[in-house]
Amino acid sequence: MIITQKKPLDEVWQMLEGVTRVALVGCGSCATSCKTGGEPELQEMKEYLESNGKIVTATIIPNESCQKLLMKKELKALKDTDTQAILTLACGDGVQTVADNANIPVYPATNTMFLGQVERVGLFSEACRMCGDCVLGHTGGICPITKCAKSLVNGPCGGQKGGKCEVNPENNCAWIDIYYRLDALGQLDKLKTMRTDKDYKNFAFPRRISIREDK
Ligand code: SF4
Ligand code: SF4
Repeated sequence: MIITQKKPLDEVWQMLEGVTRVALVGCGSCATSCKTGGEPELQEMKEYLESNGKIVTATIIPNESCQKLLMKKELKALKDTDTQAILTLACGDGVQTVADNANIPVYPATNTMFLGQVERVGLFSEACRMCGDCVLGHTGGICPITKCAKSLVNGPCGGQKGGKCEVNPENNCAWIDIYYRLDALGQLDKLKTMRTDKDYKNFAFPRRISIREDK
């Protein structure tokens, strides 16, 4: 899931300077789960803007804000509303999907943080940086690219203390965790194999993938 956080309201207000008529767009998927772009958050933003003199011309919550064709259809609701700008409460992907389909300014009301696991309701943690060359098969299912502060792929840097990372002692050293996981799986021999330098060519932005026959 894409993890988002609300921007401070004064930052949102500054972006909307000079705008009177604004539409709000949320997202029924990740941003709803993160409580940044679901129905309650759109309502809260609407009340904030209206109590400060703006006119909210529409509130739209598509199932997924990152689907271009869906968004194109949803934005038809703004026809003849004299909307001057759109404020989106979805992730950065959703903001850009709206912007690609709008001919008025589009502003983000959130900061997009990371691809995250849901540990429990309202608690998210980063586990994959989408590197495009997954090494989890060698590391007991623990990602050293994300969970090691130095993204090391051939074992620890040597700086850990008591199993904690030298860069951020609040975090476990990923490689200590990997060692114990591989030990539990009976796969410690995997640590004896030196891996070649990680291939980051699939990590060059922006990336595009097509699984269509007509690519
Ligand atoms: S190795 Fe790459 S693809 Fe695999 S979990 Fe880590 S960041 Fe994600
Ligand atoms: S202490 Fe462990 S997690 Fe931290 S940078 Fe070194 S190897 Fe990576």
